[in-house]
This record gives sequence, C-alpha cells and structure tokens, in this order.
Amino acid sequence: MDGLMMDYPLLISTILRRAERVFPEKEIVSRRGDGRIVRITYAELGRRVRRLMNVLVDLGVRPGDRVATFAWNSQRHLELYFAVPMVGAVLHTINIRLPREQIIYIVNHAEDRFVFVDRSLACLFGELQASPGLPSVKAYVMIDEGGAPEPATPPAPAFDYDELLAAASEQAVDPVFDENTAAGLCYTSATTGDPKGVLYSHRSTVLHSLANCMVDGGGMGERETALPVVPMFHVNAWGLPYSCALCGAKLVLPGSGFVGQPLAELIEAERVTCAAGVPTVWNLLYQHLQEKSYDLSSLKTILVGGSAAPRSMIENYAHDFGITVIHAWGMTETSPVGTVSRLKSTAAGWDHERQLELLLTQGLPVPGVEVKIVDAADIELPWDGVQAGELLVRGPWIARAYYNNPAAGGSFTADGWFRTGDIAAIEPLGYVRLTDRKKDLIKRKGEWISSVDMENAVLAHKGVLEAAVVARPDPVCVEVPVCLVVRKNPSATIPPEEILEILARKFAKWQLPKPEDILFVESLPKTSVGKLDKKVIRQTLASRTGG
Ligand code: ADP
Repeated sequence: MDGLMMDYPLLISTILRRAERVFPEKEIVSRRGDGRIVRITYAELGRRVRRLMNVLVDLGVRPGDRVATFAWNSQRHLELYFAVPMVGAVLHTINIRLPREQIIYIVNHAEDRFVFVDRSLACLFGELQASPGLPSVKAYVMIDEGGAPEPATPPAPAFDYDELLAAASEQAVDPVFDENTAAGLCYTSATTGDPKGVLYSHRSTVLHSLANCMVDGGGMGERETALPVVPMFHVNAWGLPYSCALCGAKLVLPGSGFVGQPLAELIEAERVTCAAGVPTVWNLLYQHLQEKSYDLSSLKTILVGGSAAPRSMIENYAHDFGITVIHAWGMTETSPVGTVSRLKSTAAGWDHERQLELLLTQGLPVPGVEVKIVDAADIELPWDGVQAGELLVRGPWIARAYYNNPAAGGSFTADGWFRTGDIAAIEPLGYVRLTDRKKDLIKRKGEWISSVDMENAVLAHKGVLEAAVVARPDPVCVEVPVCLVVRKNPSATIPPEEILEILARKFAKWQLPKPEDILFVESLPKTSVGKLDKKVIRQTLASRTGG
C-alpha cells in the first residue's frame, strides 16, 4: 500500500523560495576583488536569480547543458549556484587551482557550453581557446567583482554579466522537473589519475543541505553568520551556500581573500559565528593572529575538514580564543559532508584527554549516511576502534557512479556502497577514525604504518609548523617512512633526535624513520584544494635519490 503523502519534489528552487519569503531581510555580504564590501538581502538575491535565469534562457542554455563557473566565493557566483540548476542546467564549478592540462581535460570531458569566468581569471581561457581549443564552449560571460584589469588575452565571444543582468526581465521562469535531475558537477581533485566527475542531483543537494542544518550535522541555523572559506569552486563550498539560504543564515563570502588578514577583518566586522575551511587556512589565520589582535569574540565554531585537523589546532583555538574546532570528513563523492565530530552526551563526564581523543576522530556519520569498514577480502570488520579497513559509505547524497566514466566503476560495489579509498577504524561509540588514505599508507614488510598518525605526532613538537610523512622504497623493508618537517622559525635548529623522541612515544621502534630520513624543508607542496600533495613529495624524493 502506498503512503498518502505529497510527492513534493526536492528542488533547489524550494531553497531559494524559502530564503526569499521567510528571510527577505537577511544579508549576503561579499568582499569584492577591490576589497570593497557589498551586501544584498535574500529578497534581492531572489530577484537577481530570476533575472539571471532569463539571461541563461536567452543565451540558449538548454536543460541538461553544462554551464561552468571559474570564480571565487562571490555574490555573483552564488547567483549562478541557484539560477543554473533552476533552469534545469548543470552547474559545473571548475577548480581554479587545477593544473592547466586538467582544466582542459574537464571542460572537454564535461562538454561545457558556457563558461562564467571571473575577470581576474579570464586570461587563462583566452589562452586555452587559442590552443588547443575548447570546442564545446559557445560563449563566455565575464563576472566583474572589481579590481581586475582588462584581461590581456580575453576569450571570445564574451558577454558582461552585469550588462546582461541589467537588460533581463525579472519575470519568473520556473520550470518543474524531476528531483533526480542533475544540478551540479564537480570533478575530484585527482590526487591520483585523471579528475573524475561527480554529478549531484537536486534531490541530493536539498537533502545534503538539510543535514548541514542539523545540530548534529553541520549545525547551520538562522542565528548563525557563516563564513565559507572553503572555495565555491570545489564541492559546492561544502554545501554551505545552499544550507545558509535554506535556514536563513547570514552569509559572508570572502571573495579571493582566503588568508589571515582579510579573514580576520571579515570575522571582526561582520560578527561571524561559524567559519569553515581546510586546516591550512586555520593555520594561516592562527599565525596572523599571533602578530595582530582582532575582536573574534563572535566566532564560536570553526568547521575543519578536507584533511585531518591536528590536535594543536583544536587545543590552540580553544585555549587562546574560546573557539570550538569541529572536525568533519567528506569527499567530492559525498557532497561532501559524511561525518562530523561532536561530543556525545555519553562522553560529557570524561576527562579532557579522552574527550579530545574523540574530537580528533573524523566523527559520527551524519543522519542519512551509513558507514562500514571492510578488510582486503571485503569482509565487514567490527567497530572495536582497533581493526582498520577500507571505509565504505552509502546514502542519498553519495555518488553511485562517476560522470561518463565506466572505467572508474570499481569504486562502487554491486550492493550499493561507495569505496572511499580511506582506511579507518570505527570506535564502539560510532566515531570514525581515519588512519590514512589507502595509497598513502606505508607498507613496511607487510605491516602498515599510518602516515597521518605520524604527521600528527610530529606536529606536537613546538617548533614544527607542518609535517608530511611518505613512503620511500627500501630494498629490505619494501617501504620505510620519510618525514619532511617545516619549522615555525626557519633559522631555528631542531635536532632529528627530538622528532624521534616524540615519535617513540607513539610508535614501535621498527616503525620509526631513520634519523637521515627526517628532512627539514622550507615548505611542502599543496594540492589545488590546499592538502599536502604527497604525489609530488614522493616524486621529488624519488628524483633526488634517483629512485
Ligand atoms: P579528491 O578530490 O582528491 O578526492 P576531496 O576534496 O574529495 O579530494 O577529498 C577527499 C579526501 O580528503 C578523503 O577521501 C580523505 O582522504 C580526505 N579527508 C577529508 N576530510 C578529512 C578529515 N577530516 N581528516 C582526514 N582526511 C580527510
């Protein structure tokens, strides 16, 4: 027997409609390229999105077309987040930090028909158009967020976003379609192989937004002022633009200012309560706060994910500023929020150290996401906090296939789970603790050493700013760890023995790197989304040793 409830499609338009109607006065603040702060309300956002929908239709955007963006965290990018899926097209956010060859690859793979490009980044497309060409692209639209000179090699034909919007009608075009219609396309940042396309639907986006608004999920709510420092050009800025509109939170967009000073200024001026980004961002902000003081008393929560939050980050922000760092895990394929680490009431009376151990895990699966761990033979492992295996996930906002990429089908099991490629143990209380990425584990004579655990241990040294541990091939042990260390003060010396001493507290003797494998470097290479680029580190080490 069927239930008798409405078949109400979960469309992105429902998010905007609520924001306009229920929160017409709430603000969206953005920092432009010239540093100016501009603000609009959700009511104005609604009107501008309708104009933009008409622009898209007039340009010839058809349902299913891929419309790409190449832009910072800006108001106009937000308008595209709504207008493109609301006309039935697919918003393809291109990661501006990808290498040129990968940008060419994904524009051609996605067969983007239009590219909305920030004027400050437009040169690249002019160059790509000349050689080797982007045959699917019909036209470009320049987004002007101020402060950008005329591009030396502009792509053509190119329209101006503001001119198109000014001439467009505000009359509603609101096509209705199935909630499973594709809404967004984001390529993985390809730490291995070619980038793979993840195609979000309206349904997955709305459900993911709801999870971000749960107190035990992302914790977004009307009383929050949110600052997504996580870029809108990768994984929908963790879904925050949609979640904020859904619950009416004030949204603060930092433009291209992802580093210390502009962030601190925005937090202070706009009274930001919740900010989100990768650990590198919060490291840089912390460094800046050591040099200059700001009133950050409004900021209660920092959501951190993308790579492991170091213990020192959680402790320092809590101790120095009373800010709670919440650790979350996710992937492009999981929309991205999969687990969030908040203390259960069960652990309320625990001592500080045990509580911190829980907060350092990647957290509990958010409502809607199921997790399990399996061994090499795909046999499910118990949640005993000790046994580690590959983490598999499933749920309504987890990918079930890659876009136009049957060769990558191995990531999806026949019984409906997605293989994350992450290795994790799960605590009896349900907390997922990542030990490594499968490809980053160090396999020493058949035993595994977690590079992430070793990095975190090294970071406990007061003089260490960053650390990376990667495998080095070894004729006897197969692989051994090499530890690269960036010092806080480059002219201070840290004897390798001090690092080894810290490591010996956590690791067995056979797991420790040799003293000559502790290398002090000036900086560590990062991927396009600010994570340690271990592929490049391994390649550099191999070329140095001729290995
Ligand atoms: P890629 O595009 O390279 O797959 P994503 O941005 O999708 O990159 O990142 C996904 C990966 O990032 C996860 O599989 C995991 O290895 C890592 N990751 C994400 N969040 C965390 C976290 N909180 N702690 C440790 N690793 C994390």
